[in-house]
Amino acid sequence: MGRPDELAGSHMDIDSWSDTAGWLLGWLLGWLLSWLAAWLVGCQRWEFLGREKYIFHKKWACHLSSQNKKEGSQRNRKCPLVIDILVKKVTRNTQKNDSYLKKSPPLQGKITITGQHSHQTDNYKALNLLRISEETKEIFNEYFNNGYSVANALHAHEAQLVLKYPQETEYVRCNASVNPLPRTVYHLHKIWLKSTYGIAWSNKSPIEKLKEKLDQYKQEGIDVIIDEKDSSRWCVLIVTPIMKRAHSLPEASEIIFTDSTASCDAENTVVSIVLTATKGGAVPLCVLLHNRQDTAGYIRAYQMLAQHKPNCFGKKSCPEVFMTDDSVQEKDALATVWPDAIQYLCHFHVGQAEWRWLCEGKNQVDIDERQSFIRLFQQIMYAVNTEQYEEAKENFMNSCSHEKYQDRVNSFLKREREWALIFRNETLNRGHNTNNFSEASIRVIKDIVLGRTKAYNSCALVDYISHVWEDHMQRRILHYAYDREAKPRLVYNKLLKRMPQETKIEEIEEGLYMVQSAEKEGLSYEVNSLVGWCSCQSGRSGHFCKHQAFVFSKCGVGFPNKPAVTFNDRYKLGLLALGPEKCPKIDFFKDFDEENDTHMIENSFLQDIQMDQDICQQEQDTREISEHQGVGDTERREKLINELKAQIDRLHDVVKDEGGDTYDKVLETLVSRLRKPATPGQVMETMIRWKAASLVCSRRRGQIKVLPGAIQRRKAGKSRGAGRIRAGRPPNNQPKTSKKPLPRILNKSIVANKPHVKTHSRK
Ligand SMILES: [Zn+2]
Ligand SMILES: [Zn+2]
Repeated sequence: MGRPDELAGSHMDIDSWSDTAGWLLGWLLGWLLSWLAAWLVGCQRWEFLGREKYIFHKKWACHLSSQNKKEGSQRNRKCPLVIDILVKKVTRNTQKNDSYLKKSPPLQGKITITGQHSHQTDNYKALNLLRISEETKEIFNEYFNNGYSVANALHAHEAQLVLKYPQETEYVRCNASVNPLPRTVYHLHKIWLKSTYGIAWSNKSPIEKLKEKLDQYKQEGIDVIIDEKDSSRWCVLIVTPIMKRAHSLPEASEIIFTDSTASCDAENTVVSIVLTATKGGAVPLCVLLHNRQDTAGYIRAYQMLAQHKPNCFGKKSCPEVFMTDDSVQEKDALATVWPDAIQYLCHFHVGQAEWRWLCEGKNQVDIDERQSFIRLFQQIMYAVNTEQYEEAKENFMNSCSHEKYQDRVNSFLKREREWALIFRNETLNRGHNTNNFSEASIRVIKDIVLGRTKAYNSCALVDYISHVWEDHMQRRILHYAYDREAKPRLVYNKLLKRMPQETKIEEIEEGLYMVQSAEKEGLSYEVNSLVGWCSCQSGRSGHFCKHQAFVFSKCGVGFPNKPAVTFNDRYKLGLLALGPEKCPKIDFFKDFDEENDTHMIENSFLQDIQMDQDICQQEQDTREISEHQGVGDTERREKLINELKAQIDRLHDVVKDEGGDTYDKVLETLVSRLRKPATPGQVMETMIRWKAASLVCSRRRGQIKVLPGAIQRRKAGKSRGAGRIRAGRPPNNQPKTSKKPLPRILNKSIVANKPHVKTHSRK
């Protein structure tokens, strides 16, 4: 039925005419007395001294009445139904004139219903028009607090209602007071966002709101540190409990992976992650949010980590190796803050950049030569010893006929220590030659933590990282701790299988073994079980090779780089995920007969050298932006912007006399859109969109394009163009199956001699 408080407070106490005269007289007298008293005492407030006749009196109208509604609105059905509820006071005075109150017991309540509904009350429309109840509002706020998006909350709520009311499902489903309409929930969500995270899309940084929440984070054990010494640059350091525990892992002192992305929230805040490789996958040491993507912005962010968590790299102040993509700003900043660390480039990104360069039309590389050129380059990159390396370099210089490409590789060779495999034997990079951990983690943030929806602002982003990502990470590490991941076990078995059982092992001293080669007779390799190292090709960088696996299976000695084989390793992962208070006792992690046989096969992740073509999801657009910023050619930039201004003036001159109203409207919209972007990230995004829009208009003049949303809904493999896809029965003479797109594997692109495909867009 109607909303009870629709007409609340607007009633007049007109009950019966016989009583009115007496009541009026009393009221007048009371008013006069109070006025006199106020005047005499000089008080400004007048007390009402009239007789109180009622305990309660309220009128309710149907919610589709004309009360407070505009003419023609859909709720204005002019419904005349009114309910009047009155509870009278029982005193000697009231009883004098009221026949009902005189009765014994006195009848003091009165309910009057006037009129009838002017509309149906049991169809979908009447139910849809009901207003959301306060209880439902609270339920939805609770959904939002638990990280549900609007769509998820609506879905979950309706599913629950259907379960709760199996008899009257359809009635409840339509009832907007318990199952609100999407637009109501969007409105609720907007209010909730504002109250929880402050304001987005403005010049004001959401840092103020974040400061209010610092105490709450502190109670949860999450370190959120804000640095905003000057107003245009701010930086936030987030360290959650799992990250804190990861700081003391010995792995954190060896190789660290970093990457950043700038499309996680509406303000395009830069999110930089610093990761270490554990036996349960990549675990971040911290997450840094900052609003600038230049070198100074990165330096400031990294300095915050160095200052507030000085021993975060496995209790050391500096790791041995940093693995990054080829981002100038990031690399410069790392070199400034941690000058002693060695920097490596991701092999996948190096190969991809070369192939893209070769495929680019402006470089004029013959299509038949591209494959041989990239193979020559790969020979240099993957050479395993000095002879091979020198030979590959010579081979390249002799065979590569393209002058421009030769220059490019020559200048790149000046940085050979960063990317050639041969120089990686000197460090303990544990076989990691790509930045896959960072790429995969960024994908986890975007796909799982944010559900492919940009966060509302950076304050919301802090919440997502410290709660949703933390929960996800905990679950994943526990999967390793409880032996629920099959892949590491399979990899370990595969390594063992490659070693014949009769292979000889000789212990030279404690932790040092000589293992016979499986292929070549008379050759043996040195295995160090304390460091986790082998003198073979694969084990030289600290990667867990088949010789180490064999020594481990025979002698059961500890290798720091081995998969989490023993209950001890699994227990350590449990500690990392849950902390010492919540983690079960060490016995909980033991297999049935593990006490006797400590070298059981267990879980871990092994990074394969050849995996560099795999998961790499690329933040190409972000990188493109940063590369352009790195050019630093201010003069050229100024010239270009002046040219742009001049072109806009020229366009205006052409159209100003003939454009008419349409032109005015276009200008108005353009100006209002261009006013919105405030931060550098937003401006850059606007400019890129502007550029993209101008390309479309020159290429597809005169076509009516489909809505952008329609393109997004298309199945994988369908055209992503703005044209409509042909519908209807296909002609008989055409093959039924469409051609599959090339998989996103660099090597396959090279074999097919096609440009490398992009499957992930920035959003
Ligand atoms: Zn009505
Ligand atoms: Zn080996």
